[in-house]
Amino acid sequence: MSLTFDVQLRADPASDAERAAVLDNPGFGKFFTDHMVQAVWTRDGGWRDGRVTAYGPIQLMPSAAVLHYAQEIFEGLKAYRHEDGSIWTFRPQMNARRLARSAARLALPVLPEADFLASLEALVRVDEAWVPAYGDTEESLYLRPFMYASEAFLGVRPANEVRYGVIASPAGAYFSGGVKPVTLWVSTNYARAGAGGTGAAKCGGNYASSLAGQLEGIEHGCEQAVFLDSSTHTFVDELGGMNVFLVTKDNELVTPELTGSILEGVTRGSILQLAKELGLDPVERRVPIAEWEDGARSGDITEVFACGTAAVVTPVGELRWEGGSAPSTAGSAGGPVTRHIRERLLDIQFGRAEDVHGWMHRLV
Ligand SMILES: *Cc1c(COP(=O)(O)O)cnc(C)c1O
Repeated sequence: MSLTFDVQLRADPASDAERAAVLDNPGFGKFFTDHMVQAVWTRDGGWRDGRVTAYGPIQLMPSAAVLHYAQEIFEGLKAYRHEDGSIWTFRPQMNARRLARSAARLALPVLPEADFLASLEALVRVDEAWVPAYGDTEESLYLRPFMYASEAFLGVRPANEVRYGVIASPAGAYFSGGVKPVTLWVSTNYARAGAGGTGAAKCGGNYASSLAGQLEGIEHGCEQAVFLDSSTHTFVDELGGMNVFLVTKDNELVTPELTGSILEGVTRGSILQLAKELGLDPVERRVPIAEWEDGARSGDITEVFACGTAAVVTPVGELRWEGGSAPSTAGSAGGPVTRHIRERLLDIQFGRAEDVHGWMHRLV
């Protein structure tokens, strides 16, 4: 039976003025809408108690399994307002399927795709006023579905009680002062994920283990870290939360192949599909970090960018590692291919370009 989401409107929603103040300068992940989605799963009863209710604290026993053993997964996607006022999201079926794959890896229950889509629709319908107005500012409403083991039990086994939720947060343009290249630190002391591990699942634990590498990068004046394969430290995996692409002088668009330690980004897959239309040759293969280091110097690599839902496409500038660095190929605002791909994706997402792939899904 499919889940329904009963709407229990809060008595004290933000006033129009309060909401307008947030939407004026939302930043990222700081402010949340009036409501959230909740649902419960039990091994005996399956999914039930779907609700849209006031955004607020959740009750959890101190013994809840997630707090001890990190049995948790999440998703991230955005709701975009189009010029006619309608609200859309981008390829949410891909997020539903990835949530199901992450669930299988973390021994969590699968939330059916129809229930996942219904949960997004239910929340965005109620909190529609929080979706930023159409404009040229790239603002959207970030949606964060998540699932965690709520059973109060300290034994190590898959939980028999699990909760699902969706929260929503207005998101400003990722680059408020215009697109700017990020400097990356090549993390060799830390890996994000290993063979047979959880790198291909979108789970909180992967992020926890990426933080030390990230901090090391910051200590070396970089904004983010790029992680290598954990066994040989020679091949590029990805950033802490973004996939990576290299553009070659022969117009190849190269990204590391999915080896099991890389998260399969929806943005990554979409860019691979768009490549041909943009006159580029998409290539998925192993990418030695040395090829990037040498190519940035010799001119064989003409651009590097990172991609993900939150930042869309981010130009990558200088690469630094213990004892060395490779120069930026990004100029001050990213190279022409990076900017073209970024604009193309945004045009599709905001309804300015025809959706020939059928990627957009209407929410409201
Ligand atoms: C979410 C995520 C991405 C980007 O995925 P999108 O579906 O494009 O947003 C890339 N890498 C990691 C580790 C992620 O968690």
